[in-house]
Amino acid sequence: MIFDSHCHLLLIEEKGKELFNVIEKSLSNNVNHLLDVSVGLDDFFKRLSKIEKIREKSEISIFTSSGIPPFFADKRKKDDLDTLYRQARDNKLVVAIGEIGLDYYYNYGSHELQIKLLKEQIDVANSLDLPIIIHTRDSDKDLIDTLRSNPPKMGGVIHCFSSDYAMAKVLFNLGFYISFSGNLTYKKSYNIQEAAKKAPIDRVLIETDSPYLAPQKYRGRVNEPAFIVETARYLAELKGIAFEDICNKTFENTNRLFRIH
Ligand SMILES: [Zn+2]
Repeated sequence: MIFDSHCHLLLIEEKGKELFNVIEKSLSNNVNHLLDVSVGLDDFFKRLSKIEKIREKSEISIFTSSGIPPFFADKRKKDDLDTLYRQARDNKLVVAIGEIGLDYYYNYGSHELQIKLLKEQIDVANSLDLPIIIHTRDSDKDLIDTLRSNPPKMGGVIHCFSSDYAMAKVLFNLGFYISFSGNLTYKKSYNIQEAAKKAPIDRVLIETDSPYLAPQKYRGRVNEPAFIVETARYLAELKGIAFEDICNKTFENTNRLFRIH
């Protein structure tokens, strides 16, 4: 059993892959649990109905999230937090608030606006007893400050962890999980690999972030959940742990964080 803790099914479809094939391939690689992560409020019901259709026709377990990513920091709508609250409260398949966070690489709005949006969504997560899924890019310091001043009470995960072990340690001390995606397998990802090697196994998740960040073997192609096997294999080798054990441990960790089962 493998849990892809972060994928974007509609975006995979937009890149030209047929979703039922993607799901079949995922299942035949033993990737039987997926978390389809929100990249904005607008397509929530479209994603939800797609997920429900897939769940009816296949054996796969798919969960979802609702969240307002940082690139909306300067394009906010009046009732966005209410919409977020209702989407997350009223739908059983929603297991987290995310992806939310800070992205200073692209400088969406100002840093202040991004931090404000993040804090407000942590409050929503806390009011619904949900964990959070964090996206962070070039913003480690402000992220840590924000998580310290506004702690998410059900914890969370830093998705597509791309920092170093020093940052990972701070996050573990705050009770966070970190999730490794295909970029773990890239030749120059020394810092990420070192963090993966040293991270306690009970704090680690794996993900594809598909359609993005295909592992080395498929680099440049449209990523999909089945390809997570490459990341799991790489992580197993780095940590000197059997492939099966990596799959089982990360599966348990994902279920624990998102309180599934
Ligand atoms: Zn993502």
